[in-house]
Amino acid sequence: MNTQLTPNDLTDVVEADRAHLWHHLSQHKPYETTDPRIIVEGKGMRVWDQKGKEHLDGVSGGVWTVNVGYGRERIANAVRDQLLQMNYFAQSAGSIPGSRFAEKLIAKMPGMSRVYYVNSGSEANEKAFKMVRQIAHKRYGGQKHKILYRARDYHGSTLATMSAGGQYERNAQYGPFAPGFVEVPHCLEYRAQVETENYGEWAADQIEEVILREGPDTVGALCLEPITAGGGVITPPEGYWPRVQEICRKYDILLHIDEVVCGIGRTGTWFGYQNYGVQPDFVTMAKGVASGYAAIACMVTTEKVFEMFKLDPNDPLDYFRDISTFGGCTAGPAAAIENMAIIEEEGLLENTLRMGERLMGNLHALKEKHRVVGDVRGKGLFCGAELVTDRASKEPAPEKMVQAVVAHCMAEGVIIGATNRSIPGFNNTLCLSPALIAGPDDIDALTDAIDRALTSVFG
Ligand code: PMP
Repeated sequence: MNTQLTPNDLTDVVEADRAHLWHHLSQHKPYETTDPRIIVEGKGMRVWDQKGKEHLDGVSGGVWTVNVGYGRERIANAVRDQLLQMNYFAQSAGSIPGSRFAEKLIAKMPGMSRVYYVNSGSEANEKAFKMVRQIAHKRYGGQKHKILYRARDYHGSTLATMSAGGQYERNAQYGPFAPGFVEVPHCLEYRAQVETENYGEWAADQIEEVILREGPDTVGALCLEPITAGGGVITPPEGYWPRVQEICRKYDILLHIDEVVCGIGRTGTWFGYQNYGVQPDFVTMAKGVASGYAAIACMVTTEKVFEMFKLDPNDPLDYFRDISTFGGCTAGPAAAIENMAIIEEEGLLENTLRMGERLMGNLHALKEKHRVVGDVRGKGLFCGAELVTDRASKEPAPEKMVQAVVAHCMAEGVIIGATNRSIPGFNNTLCLSPALIAGPDDIDALTDAIDRALTSVFG
């Protein structure tokens, strides 16, 4: 650790954690016998826990967030200066960093025009859902209100975003969910439901079937991740996205792309959808927007959608009647401006492409070496390796063994992820999403650790 803290200094923190904290997405029983992990410091690609142990972070803060790495003084200083000048005012008024970041962001998103600030990815998605519903009421007598989502995709932890959640076991015990959300099939080629020459188009055509079944005049929007993240790092098959766009245009359905993970550089382009030549109507983003230096998320839409909300100045209901208190915090956009400048000035998109190639190359080598690696997928610094006990039947590796691989890496001081633990059959994909500053040694250290872990766990 860089600070002078010793593990003894933090005994009170560990005790307070045990006594009062409710950790996210965690079972708490294990903490009765083991210490909770508390991350106390970070620099570059590395973090230190309360025992002073150093870890190489292969997942950017656990959940694809710290894109520019830890310990960025430049961001901290910009946030400090902004907070002292003006920390908060509700977004019915504007702010200096809010306007400036919006302008910079829109410059990276041809065809998009308006930025709505909120706090989390879930909230950004809900705002888009609400707009779709309001558009349905304003233009289609409430009819075109259904929102389609895809199996294996995730859009958030609130009840409306869970209603659009395709990860079944996450949703168990939280229903009933909101009406008007309809699932379409996933597009994971490795587990394709049919044998066909053009799986991508076939998978997109399954969406059209759902639209026809539901009635196109009842469907307002289609919400998709550009690459499914927590549901298994599912890169879209060739031909998928162009066909999706075609279908949306054919039935006048708004295309909402959830860039909460891919947004701001993760795949080597500013946004994931920009790899596939599509033009969305809504784009939501969160994690990488300010790399976790401040809580900020954005719902971005087009001028066309914006115009739909100012049709009738005499109608008192004819505007987006929505607010998010902390959308007015200036720390978020102040941090986001610096975050974006760092990515540009340090050439981190280019680095992401280069290091992403290296990472995919290393994962392919692991697939050659270990029969348990059934499939490797990814784009930029967003990669996954699906583990199977049998390559022919593609039987998913048991969760316990996947977690043993993660634990083996952790014991060596290397943090990697696995797709959501609570989802049987979905929890067999190892996830790697290092910060965009990763160098060749970091990439090799990550995959070397996985290599040793696979040997240890699977032989
Ligand atoms: N969409 C996607 C694709 C995500 O991965 C997540 C978070 N993991 C969310 C939405 C929700 O974001 P948040 O946790 O900030 O609400």
